[in-house]
Amino acid sequence: MAWRCSGATNAELIQNLFAASLITSPAVKEAMMKVDRAHYCPVPSHAYEDSPQSIGHAATISAPHMHAHAAESLLPFLSRPNARILDIGSGSGYLTAVLAELVSGPNSRVVGLEHIPQLRDMAETNMRKGERGTEMLEKGKVRFVVGDGRKGFNDEGGEGWDAIHVGAAAVEVHGELVEQLRCPGRIFIPVEDERGEQFVWTVDKDVEGTVTKKRLFGVRYVPLTDAPRP
Ligand code: SAH
Repeated sequence: MAWRCSGATNAELIQNLFAASLITSPAVKEAMMKVDRAHYCPVPSHAYEDSPQSIGHAATISAPHMHAHAAESLLPFLSRPNARILDIGSGSGYLTAVLAELVSGPNSRVVGLEHIPQLRDMAETNMRKGERGTEMLEKGKVRFVVGDGRKGFNDEGGEGWDAIHVGAAAVEVHGELVEQLRCPGRIFIPVEDERGEQFVWTVDKDVEGTVTKKRLFGVRYVPLTDAPRP
């Protein structure tokens, strides 16, 4: 699909993904139009292709169609006026930036959580390459932090999250993530089974707190692991 959806510009890439129905939501399309993928790719000349790219530290920026699927899956949970969104394994920071374009209201917050400090710093540097990203960082709408994503992230008295995106393959749906989910809320998480196959799951918590897990589609992500020793 990469060759069909490539573009000479960010707008062309996103338009081609939309035309190929790899992006189906107009809101997600608009958000991805506003985030220049070249700011997040170490090889900008290949940024406008529908392919993953290495970002160092054994991590990759996912293909844009995967980011679109993730954003579309979480979309119904992004619209609260004070939405709180957690992007675990934020890597390049690209999806964190897209999610920040999708939340509404000045009080919504998006946190990118990464266990490699150099990647945390890279994500912030990437986001500062654009005016919109710089403003979101200055206003505190977006923040990148270092930590182990398997434990989720508790800040400001543990208010919980409306949506949690996990950008690396877990061995299970970690209990702390489910605990930190608001009612209602959704986790988007790739999980590797004992045969080494990975599937994306959504974990939904309804208004009463009832949890429902759903297996969606097969994927190939880097694993959610211990941080390498410095
Ligand atoms: N969404 C990112 C994906 C990066 S690849 C992007 O498209 O740029 C997966 C990321 O998960 C890597 O950056 C890796 O360092 C991070 N990661 C792996 N295990 C982790 C853990 N336990 N806690 C936090 N981040 C983790």
